[in-house]
Amino acid sequence: MKIAVASGKGGTGKSTVSTNLAYLLSKTYKKVYLLDCDVEEPNCHIFLKPVFSFSEPVYVPVPQVNAEKCVQCGKCAEICQYNALAFVKGKVIVFPELCHGCGSCGLICPSGAITETGREVGVVESGFASGFNFIHGKSRIGEAMSPPLIKAVKKQADKEDFIIQILDCPPGTSCPVIAAVSGSDYVFMVTEPTPFGLYDLKLAVDVMRKIGLPFGIIINRSEENDNLIEDYAKSENIKILTKIPDSRAIAECYSRGELVLKHLPEFKEAFEPLINIIRERM
Ligand code: SF4
Ligand code: SF4
Repeated sequence: MKIAVASGKGGTGKSTVSTNLAYLLSKTYKKVYLLDCDVEEPNCHIFLKPVFSFSEPVYVPVPQVNAEKCVQCGKCAEICQYNALAFVKGKVIVFPELCHGCGSCGLICPSGAITETGREVGVVESGFASGFNFIHGKSRIGEAMSPPLIKAVKKQADKEDFIIQILDCPPGTSCPVIAAVSGSDYVFMVTEPTPFGLYDLKLAVDVMRKIGLPFGIIINRSEENDNLIEDYAKSENIKILTKIPDSRAIAECYSRGELVLKHLPEFKEAFEPLINIIRERM
């Protein structure tokens, strides 16, 4: 069972949901894995303080051109969809940071002038924390290409004998989100009851509908009388899974880098509907 925790924007409480959900699940289930796929700004480890037992760099293949074999046809630059190659005055220039490692240039080259070399994009680390297994990716500083690292985090988790994976996804609606949520059985969409929260939620809902994943909404920092998200969810026939109250105690816990449910077990009630949904779907 793979559960993605996503949100249309950053700062909605996605990591709070992911870490506390994994913690709560680990009280009932064995082989729970939390994957921090927000590789550009991973922060779950701050709350979990894991002990890592595995660390491995991740590389993406990028082309290198042998000028002696090159017959100057320019086909490699023509086929590259990412402008990672330029053909200028009979020479091929490679921009490794733009390369997605698709391999098309090497396949089309008529003279075998293109071979591949590895470019490090980050590192995958795994270990144990607060009663469950934890895996995260950390992008190299300044790295713009996060999907290969996200895929490496997921691949590492899939090697294990897991019962439940919780995937803390990057915020937004672009390629890294698709790389993270793909293959999930269900998506928990975390939002907050503000106009910004609603705007970004709508974009994220569009994406989930386009890629055909089942999802429901978690309202974080919920206040008694705010109906902003609920009215939208009703009009779109989307299930509100749970509401996590706006609480100073939770905010203080977060700011100290602590797991909410470890220190404030009274908020367990807000997470229980999520456990029930996972149980039903299992
Ligand atoms: S591997 Fe793909 S993305 Fe990279 S330079 Fe070649 S064609 Fe472009
Ligand atoms: S496709 Fe091969 S031969 Fe043609 S320009 Fe590129 S490297 Fe040179």
